[in-house]
Amino acid sequence: MHTLISPVTGDAFAEVELAGPVETDAAIERAHAAFASWRQVAPGERARLLRAFAAVVDEHLEELAQLEVRNAGHTIGNARWEAGNVRDVLNYYSATPERLFGRQIPVPGGVDITFREPLGVVGVIVPWNFPMPIAGWGFAPALAAGNTVVLKPAELTPLTAMRLGELAVVAGIPEGVFTVLPGAGNVVGERFVTHPLVRKVCFTGSTAVGKRIMAGCADQVKRVTLELGGKNSNIIFADADIAAAAAAAPYGVFDNAGQDCCARSRILVQRSAYDEFMSLLEPAVRGIKVMDPSHEQAEMGPLISAAHRDKVQSYVDGANVVIRGEAPDLGGFWLPAMVAEAASVDEPAWQDEVFGPLVSVMTFEDEDEAVALANRTDYGLSGSIFTTDLGRALRVALGVESGNLSVNSNSAVRYWTPFGGFKQSGLGRELGPDAPDGFTEVKNVFFSH
Ligand code: NAD
Repeated sequence: MHTLISPVTGDAFAEVELAGPVETDAAIERAHAAFASWRQVAPGERARLLRAFAAVVDEHLEELAQLEVRNAGHTIGNARWEAGNVRDVLNYYSATPERLFGRQIPVPGGVDITFREPLGVVGVIVPWNFPMPIAGWGFAPALAAGNTVVLKPAELTPLTAMRLGELAVVAGIPEGVFTVLPGAGNVVGERFVTHPLVRKVCFTGSTAVGKRIMAGCADQVKRVTLELGGKNSNIIFADADIAAAAAAAPYGVFDNAGQDCCARSRILVQRSAYDEFMSLLEPAVRGIKVMDPSHEQAEMGPLISAAHRDKVQSYVDGANVVIRGEAPDLGGFWLPAMVAEAASVDEPAWQDEVFGPLVSVMTFEDEDEAVALANRTDYGLSGSIFTTDLGRALRVALGVESGNLSVNSNSAVRYWTPFGGFKQSGLGRELGPDAPDGFTEVKNVFFSH
């Protein structure tokens, strides 16, 4: 039995039975058996089942949200958005089965046709920071393209994924098509990598584990998608609407207590606007409502675990914190929102993915320096540019090595646009119109006249 600890209070509140190697193999084999019929289900019927799943998620939205508040300490507002995101992603990809087209290509002496075929069993591995959406970004397009899925949630946050597994059955998704298997990464997750019947691993998590998974998949040339860490910059030019940039910056980094791969944990401010920006940032950071996440007003909750809080605290200890908000003492794993002035580009809080409520600020002189500073990382996931100069916005967006950028906004992810990382932030893209293609093989067949 695995005990779950409330991030809010630090108390044990649930026990979960974890799958071992035997259960994992059995689930993979069931998923493989189910694949034979699921791939043959008529596209319209598969679409209907995905919409039915979305409708059942919608009916249970509040229950799922409350469960996530309890398990992950997410604010209730965020948790409702996250459950709604699963519904929306299922609805979006319910259009896929009827739109997975092959091609007919002109060739001499016959007819050439390409087919898009599903892969088989897909293993989806999910981290603890956004348990519901990230699960949906993997399983919805995979199921839509005709694959079956075995999903492994993170050890710390399995509850909403387990409930989604039950809701899939309620919606009529056939047995074995979508299985949720709580378990340890080095047991269930590794088996996805080594089991020959798993044809693709769809991994979201740390870069360190992602590298290991990629290396393991190489052995069977197994398909793999990696969504990994990020060290993202929020670049603010002096010509920007500084008040708007200062108002948006806290959401860009402190949402989900900074436990977000897209967190803009570096703020780069053009020197001439620095004092104005910092004077506006201070009240915005102090004003963040850090409180019991079940409270309707809550804007920031606790960190996921004692170990993770301590890791974030070690970055805080090495940083020059100049703005510090408040956090309640409810017994769990709380830290306030904090802003530090970075002394050098080698400082750990500036270089590493902190994954907590600490943002480092640094100044720059011009566009070239801003781009060079933003790119001084092995990551390349997300980031923002605040400027009123359209040409500058374009030049900087083209210069920053990152999969997702927003101009005059700190928002990051929309399910109908592609999402993924450059460099060591990942491999492949999730979401958007092309994601289902990544869950298919292209077969080319030539028919001689
Ligand atoms: P993690 O890498 O420790 O764990 C992620 C998942 O992998 C968990 O389910 C874990 O059980 C499993 N796992 C661990 N070891 C494994 C192994 N040897 N084989 C197979 N599976 C294994 O990451 P985490 O701490 O849960 O999540 C935080 C990290 O996730 C951060 O680095 C964050 O940036 C990243 N993340 C990336 C994205 C993105 O889309 N790019 C989104 C969210 C989180």
